Amino acid sequence: MNQVRLRFAPSPTGPLHIGGVRTALYNYLYARKHGGTFVLRIEDTDQGRYVEGAEQYIIDSLEWLGLEFDESPAKGGDFGPYRQSERKALYKQYTDQLIASGHAYYAFDSSDELAEMRQRFEAQGVHSPKYDASTRMTMKNSLTLEASEVDRLLELGENVVVRLLLEPDQDVVFHDIVRGEVRFNTTQLDDKVLLKADGMPTYHMANIVDDYLMKISHVVRGEEWLSSTAHHVLLYQALGWESSMPQFAHLPLILNPTGKGKLSKRAGAKFGFPVFPLSWKGQTEEDSFEGFKDFGFDAEATLNFLAFLGWNPGTEQEIFSLEALVEAFDLKDIVKAGARFDIDKAKWYNQQYIMSKANEDLLPTVQDILRSNDVEVSDDFALGCIELMKERVTLLPEFYTKAPYFFTDRFDYDEKTVRKKWKENNIPPVKELFGLIEEVEDWTTDQLQEVIKGYITGNELSFGNILPFVRVATSGTMKGPDVFAMMALLGKEEIVKRLHAGLEAFDRIKQAAG
Ligand code: GLU
Repeated sequence: MNQVRLRFAPSPTGPLHIGGVRTALYNYLYARKHGGTFVLRIEDTDQGRYVEGAEQYIIDSLEWLGLEFDESPAKGGDFGPYRQSERKALYKQYTDQLIASGHAYYAFDSSDELAEMRQRFEAQGVHSPKYDASTRMTMKNSLTLEASEVDRLLELGENVVVRLLLEPDQDVVFHDIVRGEVRFNTTQLDDKVLLKADGMPTYHMANIVDDYLMKISHVVRGEEWLSSTAHHVLLYQALGWESSMPQFAHLPLILNPTGKGKLSKRAGAKFGFPVFPLSWKGQTEEDSFEGFKDFGFDAEATLNFLAFLGWNPGTEQEIFSLEALVEAFDLKDIVKAGARFDIDKAKWYNQQYIMSKANEDLLPTVQDILRSNDVEVSDDFALGCIELMKERVTLLPEFYTKAPYFFTDRFDYDEKTVRKKWKENNIPPVKELFGLIEEVEDWTTDQLQEVIKGYITGNELSFGNILPFVRVATSGTMKGPDVFAMMALLGKEEIVKRLHAGLEAFDRIKQAAG
């Protein structure tokens, strides 16, 4: 039986868009599910679009998400090199083969000549003329020129490209796992350039040669490559490799939150959410993007969210660990319709993951976040904060931003509550209660709760009039986790200090209010 081998084949032309991550994920899932091999191939033949740092960014992103490759430029493997720029000689060898077999030819037209050809045919009423059976015989190529002239031009080496020769009016039919039978006709297609004037192959040539030589069994990629597939099928035929052609699966587009139009890299800035896995620092502000990770998304939650952009298991289950995804995933369950990018859904996943994680598993990330905010606390204390906050945060940085009072006593007081409730009949009991709290010896959540609640009920006071002051003195705000647990975590010394500071602040706020 043929081996299952899938590749993720990004071009290092900039940061990897979240759609690219989904492509990598689906390739990974399918490879793992079938005990196959997951290959990273860097498609860097377009030197004009090469961006420094993009390859590393791709690797870092997939590493963050835990999508491990079996073969890659860094890891090596039996089918290397895994960077196309290091495989130039191979592409030349196969274009030579295509020329020898009459499936490809040399063309020498300059860009001006190509433009002139388009104008000429447009003037004759041809809609979008292209280099094909109906035009090529009017152009400068090895089909129209004398052999000696061809040799001279090859020797000269200017504007020399190799083009694939397409027979007119041929049906190209292939099966796509997502779309079923897909049909093109060569009349719609042009004689694609296979080898460029700089000696580099085009995407099409390099992609086919490498998929063949790397024994790729399934090509899983974005829908934007569907129309190229017709050329790819013709190339497989021309090279005599048809029987080893991989199976194709073209993934649906990821759409803007509005459901209209493809999710673009600019959409992030427009809608205020990330569309890249990691942050990327470009040349300009406009070219710099915040990533899912820095935004506060957990890696597994991100994967779970992405998995559902274009696939679903056909059941109600929504939470899938990476292993569970491997188990459940199948290419045939990929949907055809575009998938709407819904950031609220991503946040929902994130919340579910945070809640379900063990405190210890969240600790390293939370400590990183705290350190980046210049906060140094013990692991025990951080674990206590995690325990109290994990049901309340959606994005990881909220462990800090939603509860700064765990890390500083310089927080703002909820003035509205103080103004409303710091009244004559509440002030003496609150002061008396604060004194009692200072006396508590056994500084635990239960004991604090007993003393405080006991005092309020024992004196027939109202919880709503007294308890807010305990809370606001402790954390400044009426929102937050269980106040007794917060007090226990912060410790007696700190709380006593805060109770005193609170009483002063309440008076100050009341006075200022007049
Ligand atoms: N290099 C192409 C890209 O950047 C690969 C497309 C494919 O998977 O064939 O997406």
